[in-house]
Amino acid sequence: MNFKDFNFNSELVKGIESIGFEKPTPIQEKAIPIIMQGEDIIASAQTGTGKTAAFLLPVIHKIISSKKDDHIKALIIVPTRELAMQIDQQLEGFSYFTSISSIAVYGGGDGTSFSMEKKALTEGADIIIGTPGRMIAHLNMGYVKVKELEFLILDEADRMLDMGFHEDIMKIIGYLPKVRQNLLFAATMPYKIKDLARKVLNNPKEINIALSKPVEKVLQVAYVLYEQQKTPLVNHLLSSKHLRSVIIFCSTKSSTKQLAKELKKLRLSVDEIHSDLDQKSREKVLLDFRNRKTNILVATDILSRGIDIEDIDLIINFDVPHDGEDYIHRIGRTARAEAEGIAITLINEKEQGKFGSIERLLGKTVTKAMLPKQLGSTPVYNPQKSSYRSNKRNNFRRYKNRK
Ligand code: ADP
Ligand code: MG
Repeated sequence: MNFKDFNFNSELVKGIESIGFEKPTPIQEKAIPIIMQGEDIIASAQTGTGKTAAFLLPVIHKIISSKKDDHIKALIIVPTRELAMQIDQQLEGFSYFTSISSIAVYGGGDGTSFSMEKKALTEGADIIIGTPGRMIAHLNMGYVKVKELEFLILDEADRMLDMGFHEDIMKIIGYLPKVRQNLLFAATMPYKIKDLARKVLNNPKEINIALSKPVEKVLQVAYVLYEQQKTPLVNHLLSSKHLRSVIIFCSTKSSTKQLAKELKKLRLSVDEIHSDLDQKSREKVLLDFRNRKTNILVATDILSRGIDIEDIDLIINFDVPHDGEDYIHRIGRTARAEAEGIAITLINEKEQGKFGSIERLLGKTVTKAMLPKQLGSTPVYNPQKSSYRSNKRNNFRRYKNRK
């Protein structure tokens, strides 16, 4: 299949060509025809499979052919500022040869950005990409021209629910016209998404692209070790070979800061990103990393979903992520689109049970590598034993809470 088969407007085709996309990805092949027909969809496909273009292209095509006025035609709601900016950039690329206007609307900027957003919302940009809180702030003021809105897109809907945006999303929808086309995209389909879908979507077509496919391109390796061996191992991994782009994920802000500090002491080119940084600093850190001014980024899961950074050589999970979905999101940072990548997970004794359940979700065991001899001896991998223990502990906690 080819992008020509969708019969897109010729200005849009030029945009796609100039970006260099040649063939649609599987999610694009399936979703685009349905969206072109005007149907609602609920689509899940793993991170890195091209979901952004799957909704942007048909929506741009339809807006080009709809009448020109000063009303907003499409609203894309996303969980984070970074994602809003990234989608806006892709949109600018695709719509370069069209007269479509767009703006990303997100919190955290200064007063001028709010008034710029207000201006765009008042004059009616065609497509708005916004975070929930900021959208509500503008909608409450009454000047946002949504009366003729035709498309509502919820991107990373699973992530938005995880972040507690359910009510905000419903509040935003309360402002929108009842008749509209709704598109919901997510990397995973937990049950609570179906609940949201029932409320928001109208007779949607469902598309699921199997979870495990792109992950197969990622070479997954794990080290079983003691907690205090983690930093020495990271140091060993990072200095044994020149790597241009490495992301190290930690589960908490404090461990992120701590590890970044220790790696800086080792004179590595390191930066950190987590929600304690303000908007400007986060943008700067991302830009430096994209431009390879810094080679190593220590990050919380703020970075694990949605954000597209190309050519990551290596992902290190310094901590085992809390669940399988986070694991898949994290390792999805590497091996985007056509590339291949490596993901290494460090498992201490307490994390063995958690990693065992991730392996069950993946439907396979991840290769365990030998720790370099000079770093000392290691624990035995026995995830059943450790998950048995943690289950017992949880039951005990539940029992106590009941009392
Ligand atoms: P997702 O939203 O599913 O996580 P993205 O939409 O961010 O994925 O796309 C991941 C990467 O793949 C981006 O760099 C994007 O430019 C690229 N990409 C998407 N579709 C295509 C395509 N048809 N051909 C080539 N590259 C693509
Ligand atoms: Mg996406």
